[in-house]
Amino acid sequence: KEQLSLFRNHLKIRVYGTDIPNPFRSFDELAKQYQVEPYLQRNILASGFKKPTPIQMQAIPVILHGRDVMAMAPTGSGKTMAFVLPILYDLKGPEKVGYRAVIISPTRELATQIFNQIKKLSVGKKFKICMLTKATAATQGQAPHLRQKYDILISTPLRLVHAIQQEKMELDHVRHLVLDEADKLLEQGFLEQTDEIFAACSHPSIQKSLFSATLPSGVEALANTFMRSPVRIVIGSKNA
Ligand code: ADP
Ligand code: MG
Repeated sequence: KEQLSLFRNHLKIRVYGTDIPNPFRSFDELAKQYQVEPYLQRNILASGFKKPTPIQMQAIPVILHGRDVMAMAPTGSGKTMAFVLPILYDLKGPEKVGYRAVIISPTRELATQIFNQIKKLSVGKKFKICMLTKATAATQGQAPHLRQKYDILISTPLRLVHAIQQEKMELDHVRHLVLDEADKLLEQGFLEQTDEIFAACSHPSIQKSLFSATLPSGVEALANTFMRSPVRIVIGSKNA
């Protein structure tokens, strides 16, 4: 216990909440502890990632334990893999029930980066991943049965709300909802769209996570209203 808090202090990992799973220290340890499938382990290695970043060490076990999470860590600290890896782990493989994971990003560019990271990490599994754009929204809207084939959806809020409202996009099988750059998604202007997306993701045991470089206290209070006993993780100095 003493050692655990020394380890966290050393890596500037601060955690808030109850029953917080322990961080892992290496990808080997993660693989052994959680029986990570070989394809995932291979893809991590192929990315050239030698060891996990602090946010990955702490956020991945929290998500694997099914907990809601609010994660704050500086830009460039590897937040994307911190949510992509546990989602791929949990979805196991492709299915044909419709989207089971949705990742929201405030901009098209960031959504594209997330899409590319998921592609890389999922090599060897035939997950169907969709990045919603004007073009894909149109084709999938015309043929809702096509959506059954997809597992993971990445979108900006506006595109997704449009698909929900205009194209009867169904999100009732979604088990994982991630807001990346959550501070922006919970600001005025985006908030109405974010709310609409929450309403559409109607599965009772949906797991929500927020990832952000910062989370102002007002935004955090708001986030607390829609999360279930979340674990809050803060990497780095208090006011970063
Ligand atoms: P953030 O979302 O926190 O700003 P990203 O997820 O975009 O950061 O990651 C920043 C960069 O770090 C990316 O190029 C990513 O491939 C790389 N990266 C992620 N995890 C690791 C790791 N464990 N070891 C080395 N590099 C990593
Ligand atoms: Mg990011």
